[in-house]
Parts: sequence; structure tokens; C-alpha cells
Amino acid sequence: MATATLQKSHAHKPTEVKNQQLFIGGKWRDSASGKTFATLNPATGETICRVAEGDKADVDLAVAAARKAFEEGPWPKMNASERGRLLNKLADLIESHKEELAALESLDNGKPLRDSLAADLPLVVKCYRYYAGWADKIHGKTIPVEGPFFCYTRHEPIGVVGQIIPWNFPLLMQAWKWGPALATGCTIVLKPAEQTPLTALRVAQLAQEAGFPDGVINVVPGYGPTAGAAISEHMDVDKVAFTGEGSTGQIIMTAAAKSNLKRVSLELGGKSPNIVFADADLDAAVEGAYFGLFFNQGQCCCAGSRLFVEEKVHDRFVEKVLQKAKAQKVGDPFDPETTQGPQVSQEQCDRIMGYIDAGKQEGAKLLTGGRRLGERGYFIEPTVFGEVKDDMKIAREEIFGPVMNILKFKDVDEVVRRGNRTFYGLAAAVWTRDITKAHRLANGLRAGTVWINCYDVFDSAAPFGGFKMSGFGRELGEYALELYSEVKTVYVNLGE
Ligand code: ADP
Repeated sequence: MATATLQKSHAHKPTEVKNQQLFIGGKWRDSASGKTFATLNPATGETICRVAEGDKADVDLAVAAARKAFEEGPWPKMNASERGRLLNKLADLIESHKEELAALESLDNGKPLRDSLAADLPLVVKCYRYYAGWADKIHGKTIPVEGPFFCYTRHEPIGVVGQIIPWNFPLLMQAWKWGPALATGCTIVLKPAEQTPLTALRVAQLAQEAGFPDGVINVVPGYGPTAGAAISEHMDVDKVAFTGEGSTGQIIMTAAAKSNLKRVSLELGGKSPNIVFADADLDAAVEGAYFGLFFNQGQCCCAGSRLFVEEKVHDRFVEKVLQKAKAQKVGDPFDPETTQGPQVSQEQCDRIMGYIDAGKQEGAKLLTGGRRLGERGYFIEPTVFGEVKDDMKIAREEIFGPVMNILKFKDVDEVVRRGNRTFYGLAAAVWTRDITKAHRLANGLRAGTVWINCYDVFDSAAPFGGFKMSGFGRELGEYALELYSEVKTVYVNLGE
């Protein structure tokens, strides 16, 4: 029944890896322990190269460099407009290296090169430009208090920020974190995911070239329980921003609470309802639902992984979705025909296969896919389950893979209730031509973003983040500036 076949491997120019060391205080260096770790090509399972493995000692050095840069040197004295200029310069450098960065991203993460070029890179460049614009527009208020006082607020940078990012959109997650942190004047210690450290290091080098002063940006690749924990426990880190799994978010928040009460912002998982009504433009809904789940190999925190389809159009919808799944071209990320690359790692692949087994065991109907593809690399067939029930594991837990779950519904109130019956609240979508129904759902669904007749629309200017266990704090837009600033109130006595 499964028809997706593995695209043949195409020979392509090997992507050169320029940076494999830690970047601390403007210097490239080995880790204090001398240890390195392998980063793998998910399409083959082979080692691309070894990267310096940061640990507590390296995080200590990086935090000290970031503290020094925050308190001394050119950064705190720099005009805000100059910070904006540097961010624009970084955006320009990323843009002029977009082919190289897209290839490096696809090599390390496995996403099709055409997606890296068409989606990741343009969004990254726009994000840095957007925050370049904010750098000299961040200001406080004057407040009419009682008495002979002049009262004003200052929006000051929060200080040294630790940023821990995941592997699904390495360049983009770095941009979402660096843009607002640099615009507000913070200094940074970034830990990229151990699966995908390469592009973060390359962008650090471009930032150095752009002219960011030494110590403003530090990158320490390494593992979560070592380097990541050292950041979240650190007494001299003022804030930690994290994107990743909920259980890791809980560990990080606990570490922040038990150390110095550093500020925390978390963007965690989701189990987003995508709701298709019978009165929708069905072809558009099929396209959107397909993209909303299978984009990036299903490795999106906002994936529409509970697909509710109104009973009246259910069978037609399923037929159309299956046609799309069967046309998916799974294979080498560097083949221009490929629409689905490998999952990021063996671990993720095993986890997804575990969910597929659970789906079968709990009685969901496997409509297509369900198997691994090929002899090497971490490829999984695009998989669609029908007759999924709300209490099945595949309908409750985040799968983070190319597995679509279709659930039937009958009416509006029922689907809002069922859509909200989850601990998550990252995103939701509604497909209908009825404007009243669309807004009723937009109001009723407990999620940080609601898309109406679209999916996965992102813009640097519009906030993104979660309700409930999908985290807190809003990235992107003006809202993200709050994550990186402290408000200071100043009273000046104007009396005699
Ligand atoms: P995933 O399972 O998708 O890899 P994680 O939440 O484990 O998601 O990883 C996201 C990021 O969090 C990675 O950079 C990872 O190294 C980091 N991380 C994992 N465990 C910890 C931890 N205990 N403390 C701090 N960071 C961690």
C-alpha cells in the first residue's frame, strides 16, 4: 500500500565545514576538556565532522566573556543605532552566504535543500533585519506621578542571556533568539543542539566579521545535561531562553529557580488541532493540512498533528490527502526533487516508529506509510492514520515526525471542546468559508497562534509562543523585546 519510494542519492559538491571549535570572547578554541563529539549526516548516518564539546568549564568562560562584554568595552557604550547597523550587516552577510548556509543546514539537519533555501534562509535574514530596525526604537515612558517628581522608565537590557536551541530549525531558532537579544543590548551564550551545531558556528563567524565586539556573542556546542545544564544553573546568567521539549523546559525552569531566579522563557511542544469544516475550500484545506503536518519532516513544534475533519467531507478529504502522501518524494536532501528528507537522528526515528506501532496497537487505521525507508539514514514513509480517537497515544503526545492523525467531528462546540482537550496550546488552525464560525473558533481555541484558512504562516513582526504547557513568553515581534529587557523606574525630585 505504501508507495513513497526513496529518491536516489545525487552526487553533490561536499559542503565545506569551516567552524568546529567553540566561539568564546571573540576567539575560536578547543574545549577545556579537549573532548569533541561527532555530528552526523542524517541522510547517511555518517559523521560529517567532529565538533568541540563544551562543558561547564567552557560555559564558565563564555559567561565570563559575556559579562565582561556587557559591562565593559564598546558594547554598553555603543549607540543603539549602531547595534541596529551591526544586525543589518549580519543579515547582509547571511544573505550573501545563503547558498553555503542552506547547504550546511541541510547537511547537518537533513531538510531538503530547496526548503532551506526557500524557507529557512529568507526567514532568518528577515528576522535579523526586523530586529535591526528595533534597536533604536526601544524606550520607556514618562509617568505623571503625584508630588514634585519627574518619573520615567528605562527599558534596559536584561544582561547576560543563555540561549538553548533545538535541531529542527537551527538557523531560524538562533535568529529568533539573537535578534531581540542583540537589539536590546544583551550579551549571549548560545548552546546549539548537539545534533546540529554547524550553522550556529558559521553564523558566529559572520557576526564576528560584521563587527560585533568580542564577547557579545559566544557559542558553546555540547550536550544538554552538561553544557545546557551549566547555562541554566549558572549564577551569573540573567536569563535563559529555551526552545525544545516540555520535560527539558521543566528541568531548565527548576535549575533557574534553584540557582539565581534567572528569567526564563520557554517555547515547548504542541499537539495542535487543525480543524477542517465541510464548508471549507477542500483543496486548499488538504494542501494546508498536508503542509501543516509534513513540512520539515513533521519536525515542527506547531505541526497540525490532530487533524479534525467534519464527518460530511471526511472521506473525500482522506482520499485527497492520501494522493498527496503517495506523491511525496522522500530522499536525499540535496536532490532538487526531494520533498521529504530524513528525520534528524536514529533516536528520533526510533521514537516515531514507536508511535506508529502504538497507533496500530490502539486500533487506528493505517491508511498509508508506516515503515522505514532505505538501508541507511533515518527515512520514514509519510504516514497517515485514520479513525484516530482522542484518547489514543498518537492523538495525545507529540510525535515530531511525518505521521498524520485524522479524527472525525460533527459540530462546532464539540470540536472546540475536543481541540482544547490537551495540555498543550501552541497553535491551531481552522478551515471554513463561514466568517462567524472562523472567529468563534479563533476565540475559543486555547492556543498562542490561530491560523484561519492557512497554516504555518510566520512573520518576524507577529508574536509566536504557547498557552499552557507549550511554554510562556512570546518570541518575534515587539513582544520578544520584553523577554530581553528589564524596566527601571527613575524618580527625580524637582521640589525645593
Ligand atoms: P529534543 O528531544 O527534541 O532533542 P530537547 O529538549 O532534548 O529536545 O533539546 C533541545 C535543546 O535542549 C538541545 O540544545 C539540548 O541539548 C538541550 N537540553 C537537553 N537537555 C537539557 C538539560 N538537562 N539542560 C539544558 N539543556 C538541555
